[in-house]
Amino acid sequence: MNSPKICKNFINGEWVDAVSEAVFEDRNPADTNQVVSVFPRSDGRDVALAVEAAAAAFPRWRLMPAPRRAEILYRAAQRLAERKEELAADMTREMGKVLEEARGDVQEAIDMAYFMAGEGRRQYGQTTPAELPNKFAMSLRSPLGVCGLITPWNFPMAIPSWKILPALICGNTVVIKPAEDAPLSCYHFVKILAEAGLPRGVVNLVAGFGEEAGEAILAHPGVKMISFTGSTDVGRHVSERCAPQFKRLHLEMGGKNVIMVMEDCNLELAVDGAVWGAFGTTGQRCTASSRIVVHKEVYIEFLEHLVERARALRVGDGLDPAVQMGPLINRDAADKVSQYVQSGIQEGARLLSGGHALTDGVFANGFFFEPTVFANVQPGMRIAQEEIFGPVVSVIPCDSFEAAIEIGNNVRYGLSASIYTQDVNRAFVAMREMETGIFYVNAPTIGAEIHLPFGGTKQTGNGHREAGVAALDTFSEWKSIYVDYSGRLQRAQIDS
Ligand code: NAD
Repeated sequence: MNSPKICKNFINGEWVDAVSEAVFEDRNPADTNQVVSVFPRSDGRDVALAVEAAAAAFPRWRLMPAPRRAEILYRAAQRLAERKEELAADMTREMGKVLEEARGDVQEAIDMAYFMAGEGRRQYGQTTPAELPNKFAMSLRSPLGVCGLITPWNFPMAIPSWKILPALICGNTVVIKPAEDAPLSCYHFVKILAEAGLPRGVVNLVAGFGEEAGEAILAHPGVKMISFTGSTDVGRHVSERCAPQFKRLHLEMGGKNVIMVMEDCNLELAVDGAVWGAFGTTGQRCTASSRIVVHKEVYIEFLEHLVERARALRVGDGLDPAVQMGPLINRDAADKVSQYVQSGIQEGARLLSGGHALTDGVFANGFFFEPTVFANVQPGMRIAQEEIFGPVVSVIPCDSFEAAIEIGNNVRYGLSASIYTQDVNRAFVAMREMETGIFYVNAPTIGAEIHLPFGGTKQTGNGHREAGVAALDTFSEWKSIYVDYSGRLQRAQIDS
């Protein structure tokens, strides 16, 4: 068993304890006897120091040419790639996802570092014709200032990287508070940025809890922008806290994503997609395929195969290469999933497999849960409407393509949707009609590529996007410039 890693906050280029000297533990959800790391439990005093450092670093960082800023990001990308295996293993230890998925999480950070470094030589504005002779018109991007970043535990390196890197390349400085359930991956990421040559104060990491460090970031008047990824309930609260100060706000929140399985699809492909979409990362992805709407002509056959595959999944410690599904993140998550299973049963859905926590033998010290399949789910049931964030999938029968679209859209969230069909016309209609930020054809609702915009509609997002060039819009603002080179005095100047 590895001994716990003792970690600190990173403020103004120094690794420091919390002012209060309080700490908290980051435990392995596959075996809670293992303390993976110990972090400072920060409060408003630590946040104030971090914001002060970020504000002091801003004037110089803003004026550093973006291609020079990019060189630091390139170096960080290389270091991340060199240390990928070790970083992935620590991620699995701290939050449970299987090693292969943890590698993917680190890879997203690597990809994002290369991509955003490339943007250091682009960040294009517009040059346009002006209305008058001898006048020049253009627009350019300006940084926002100190960005406050608040992130969840389920993509503990990818999501911090999706926020920090575009913020930096646009010339902002940063205070980040990672989730209390998985701060170590963000710590590694920030440490690598520092080793790559980031000037002091440009990125500051403050570990701690939402109600303490998180609230202090929201409240601090020196923080000009908040980028939050997490649950919709917390996101609503964040929104309310930012409004009085008119803080710029980027929200990425919950999902209730749907796969639509049509009668003309390749059924084997659809079943495979459903298994990984629903049970990958133990169902703890914002893009998890937690609803599957299936045409009645293939409903029974689809269910038979899905249940067979769900029962065969190997659950356990994600560090074991044979394991396909790791634990849930914590006790609250395990209780919440159990409650949703009870709710499904009470509302009349048919539990076809799973439904129980795994608590014996090798599972005794972790938060393991069986892959769970409900059939005959009605679209209005709680298990078909609310984000469960666990390995529970609701299979909903439907009569037609049109009904599938209607059921698919009938939720408050709008992150991701997919269709399995061999009919190109249906694929295009669904692509147009689904009220989501991401759409897949013949693939599950998961698996983003970092150069395309990522985010959702309705109660998943507030109109901004991260990843891709769209992230530059989130982390910068436009300035329009008019240059008159005619040498003529303006009317107002002549009159005065
Ligand atoms: P969460 O909302 O509980 O916490 C997210 C972050 O907010 C954490 O860092 C937490 O400490 C902080 N926080 C909590 N209360 C706060 C407060 N009062 N003030 C300031 N900060 C506060 O979410 P979670 O459990 O970490 O993550 C799971 C959720 O995140 C799911 O709903 C999932 O769908 C969502 N998510 C969304 C996306 C997306 O891109 N749309 C991606 C990943 C996860």
